[in-house]
Amino acid sequence: MRLLLVEDDAMIGEAIRAGLRRDGFTVDWVHDGETAEQVLETESFDLLLLDLGLPRKAGLEVLSGLRTRGNGMPVIILTARDAVCDRVQGLDAGADDYLVKPFDLDELAARIRALLRRKSGHSAPAIEHLGVTLNPATHTVRRGVEEIALSPKEFALLHLLMERPGTIHSRARIEERLYGWGEEIDSNAVEVHVHGLRRKLGSDFILTVRGVGYRVRPA
Ligand code: CA
Repeated sequence: MRLLLVEDDAMIGEAIRAGLRRDGFTVDWVHDGETAEQVLETESFDLLLLDLGLPRKAGLEVLSGLRTRGNGMPVIILTARDAVCDRVQGLDAGADDYLVKPFDLDELAARIRALLRRKSGHSAPAIEHLGVTLNPATHTVRRGVEEIALSPKEFALLHLLMERPGTIHSRARIEERLYGWGEEIDSNAVEVHVHGLRRKLGSDFILTVRGVGYRVRPA
């Protein structure tokens, strides 16, 4: 899952990005509201982490703009202010959740997972498909009772494919979801990850749709 972090405090931003990357998220980070707005208009993310007090454009303005343009992506507000009215304004402007700084990174990751679950229509923490169970919270994948060890990118790819089993994902979309800015991508990276998953989960769990992309085998 790919997140956009908007945070002007270098130390806080660094800590959040490092913590969420450890948790398997792809995280891109911008430091002001105007850049956030530009990036949001041209690229797509699964979720937005938005500080309110930002240079060049306030977080609330970025949020209102996003909703005005009809973008319904999940948004969590991160704010140092503990004034109730800021949080109320944020929620009323279209945020889905908020955290008051300083917060625990594990709690942030859990709230992100909860929002992503809700967005994709899963209420249970784990996703199950054809005997394969993927748990985003524990980073585990099982086939039956057997635990399957995956690399972080294999896990991210499997999560993307299993989240909506009916959907075919193009290679470009997969690359966009798995790799943040500045991360090197080999030209055959997606094929390599698919190959790895097939080796571990069976050759027919992930199907190639020629000329279009990849999907998991329908139930
Ligand atoms: Ca700030």
